[in-house]
Amino acid sequence: MPDVLVLVDHDGERVHKSTYELLAAARRLGEPIAVVVGTPGTSARLRDSLALHGATVVHAAESTEAGEFLGSPAVDALQLAVRAVSPTAVLVSATTDGKEVAGRLAARLDTALLTDVVDLDSSGTVTQIVFGGAYTVRSEATHGVPVIALRPGSFEPEHHPVGAVQHELALPPVDPTASARVTARRAALAGDRPPLTEASVVVSGGRGVAGADGFKVVEELADALGGAVGASRAAVDAGYYPHQYQVGQTGKSVSPQLYIALGISGAIQHLAGMQTSKTIVAVNKDPEAPIFGVADYGVVGDLFSVAPQLTREVSARRGPA
Ligand code: FAD
Repeated sequence: MPDVLVLVDHDGERVHKSTYELLAAARRLGEPIAVVVGTPGTSARLRDSLALHGATVVHAAESTEAGEFLGSPAVDALQLAVRAVSPTAVLVSATTDGKEVAGRLAARLDTALLTDVVDLDSSGTVTQIVFGGAYTVRSEATHGVPVIALRPGSFEPEHHPVGAVQHELALPPVDPTASARVTARRAALAGDRPPLTEASVVVSGGRGVAGADGFKVVEELADALGGAVGASRAAVDAGYYPHQYQVGQTGKSVSPQLYIALGISGAIQHLAGMQTSKTIVAVNKDPEAPIFGVADYGVVGDLFSVAPQLTREVSARRGPA
C-alpha cells in the first residue's frame, strides 16, 4: 500500500480532531504516516491517539525551537518526510496555518497543490471548493506528490487501532531571517465551548443580531446544542463579536453536522466558509435572503423571537445538564 503523509495538528498534549479526519481521508489513498512537529517529547505523548486512528508510523520532527516559528518547521519536516518515504500524497488541514504550510511545501517540491478539498477518492481525484465558494470542482494532480489541504469537518474520524512505530526526523535549524518567530502566545477565551473548526454544531450570528448584547441569544442556542459560536464578517467588523469567530472566505471554514445562521444574509463570502455543512438552518426576517438558497430548513422570522424558542425547546428535550 502506498504511504500517505499526514501533518498532525496538536496543542502539545492533544491531537486535534481535524487530524483524525485527515487520517480517515488518508486511509482512502493508502497507509497513513503521521508527521508530528513539536518540542522534544511531543510525539511520544500523541503516538497512542494517532495509532488508534490508523497511523502506522509516527515521524517525530522535534526540536526546542519547533514551536517558536510559524510554518517553517512543519514545511521542513514534511519535505524531509517526503524524501524519506516517497508518499503518494501529503495531507494537511485547510486551516490558516495548514494552507500556508501546504502552499510553501508544494512550492518547494515543485508539485501540485489542492486546497479547500472536501472529498477525495482512492484514485486521488479530489473535490474542491474554489473561487470563494462559487464553484465546486473535481481535480487531480498532473505531476508530483499532491499536497492536499482538507477542510476540517469534511471527513468523519474513524477508529482504526494499529501499532505505530516512531521514527525520528532531524529538523534543520530554522533560518530566523526567513521565518516569523512567535514572540508571545495568549489563549483564546472560548469558555467551555468546542473550537469553531472542530464543533459538530455551529450557531452563527450576523448583522441582524444588531449588537454585542444580541449575541447572548446566539450563545444561548449554541450552549443548548453543545456547539460553537460563529459570526459573519459584518458582525465582527461592527464589533459585535471577536474576529477569531468569523466564518467565511476570509475567516474560518467550518463543515459541522449542523450550522444555524441567525440574521445572516448569505453573501457568497460567508457561504464560502460554511456551505459544506451537513445540515443548514437559517433564520432571517427577509424571505428573499440568499441564505435560504443553501438552507435545508429556513424560518422567516425575527431571530429574537425564533432563537429563544428553539433554545427552550432544545433544552427541554435534553433535560437537566
Ligand atoms: P447583512 O448582509 O447586512 O445581512 C443581515 C441579515 O440579517 C439580513 O438578511 C436581514 O434580513 C437579517 N436580519 C436583520 N434583522 C433580523 C432579525 N431581527 N431577525 C432575523 N433576521 C434579521 N463575510 C463573511 O461573513 N465572512 C467572510 O469571511 C467574508 N469575507 C469577505 C471577503 C471579501 C473580499 C469581501 C469583499 C467581503 C467579505 N465578507 C465576508 C462580507 C460579505 O460580503 C457580507 O458583507 C457579509 O457576509 C454580510 O454579513 P451579514 O449577513 O451578517 O450582514
